[in-house]
Amino acid sequence: MKRIYLDYAATTPTHPEVVKAMSSYFSEAFGNPSSIHSYGQEAKGAIEEARTTVANLINAQDEEIIFSSGGTEADNFALKGVAFANESKGNHIITSSIEHHAVMETCKFLERRGFKITYLPVDEYGLINPDDVRRTITDKTILISVMHANNEVGTIEPITEIGKITKEAGIYFHTDAVQTVGHIPVDVNELGVDLLSMSAHKLYGPKGVGALYIRKGTKLVPFVHGGEQERRRRASTENVPGIVGFGKAAELAQQEISEEEERLTCLRDQLVKGLLERIDHVRLNGHPVTRLPNNVNISVAFVEGESMLLNLDLEGICVSTGSACSSSSLESSHVLLAMGLSHEQAHGSLRFSVGQWTTEQDVERVLDVLPRIIAKLRAMSPLLKSHR
Ligand code: PLP
Repeated sequence: MKRIYLDYAATTPTHPEVVKAMSSYFSEAFGNPSSIHSYGQEAKGAIEEARTTVANLINAQDEEIIFSSGGTEADNFALKGVAFANESKGNHIITSSIEHHAVMETCKFLERRGFKITYLPVDEYGLINPDDVRRTITDKTILISVMHANNEVGTIEPITEIGKITKEAGIYFHTDAVQTVGHIPVDVNELGVDLLSMSAHKLYGPKGVGALYIRKGTKLVPFVHGGEQERRRRASTENVPGIVGFGKAAELAQQEISEEEERLTCLRDQLVKGLLERIDHVRLNGHPVTRLPNNVNISVAFVEGESMLLNLDLEGICVSTGSACSSSSLESSHVLLAMGLSHEQAHGSLRFSVGQWTTEQDVERVLDVLPRIIAKLRAMSPLLKSHR
């Protein structure tokens, strides 16, 4: 049976060209970039080349990119780094109620350390109202962190508008752009952000490597202490093959972004249209237009997301019920609840995310298989019986 992978938002396969670019940095060009001999300089040169490519992808300067172990570390670095460096100015941080756990849990940690966090609400589409940001700022606010696009429902947030507000107020602005970098155009100057998190494995790069963009002049304390790597901002011997892979993935993304964005949008819309036409009592979660080109999230009434997921898996179709991190827990998605969905609607949710190797035939297969699975599950569903 041919397997169909529709979980690109959880992770992407590493592109063969990325694997090829990385391979010599394991055993041939294996030097420590801090060494001054030729092995070391070879590795250092490769890192700097990758830094330029990643910086170009988001219109940043090379020295504003600090490599990390992934998106989670970049988020932790941004929030804790700014919070602890600017404590004397204030202790208030504003974020949204739909952030990834990497931001949410960091905020909860900071709350336990005496910081005050405001979790802004979102509307039914998962959108933050920039006026809410403006209204919530106090003279104690030191940081605002709002994700660029949500990983579960794909809604793209009004970052440029929020950026104008934070700039006027002179407050640092961080965005978690893990789901957008490499998928839609991202320009740190247009967005008006001071800090931006990225992760290579979401754009056909390897796992375990990411980066934080830090605008020149931003005051933050280092997160990992030790050696002098990454301009003393992130100690530890660099993950050279990973960073080289991230660079290659960024280069490929830059070349393919506009064509791929258009192709995936067509596949996404084909899937949404088919699902809404062929299944009763189904709703699209997230904004109908202002959403990632690769994301489809639906709630199906009277069935459990987990049951649909397992039945699809038996048919070789791999999807998600929410974010990858929450797929082993039965807790309702905090994102869907924040958007006003009931626990039942949240439990009946499925996320499809298309990507580079998704075809129209794959989408057609989902549209053929899923209605049958839902009909079978509903026939056994106590939820539907009690509704009748
Ligand atoms: N932020 C968002 C929006 C994500 O979707 C993810 C991964 O799912 C992360 C952060 C964490 O990134 P990483 O897996 O590289 O730690």
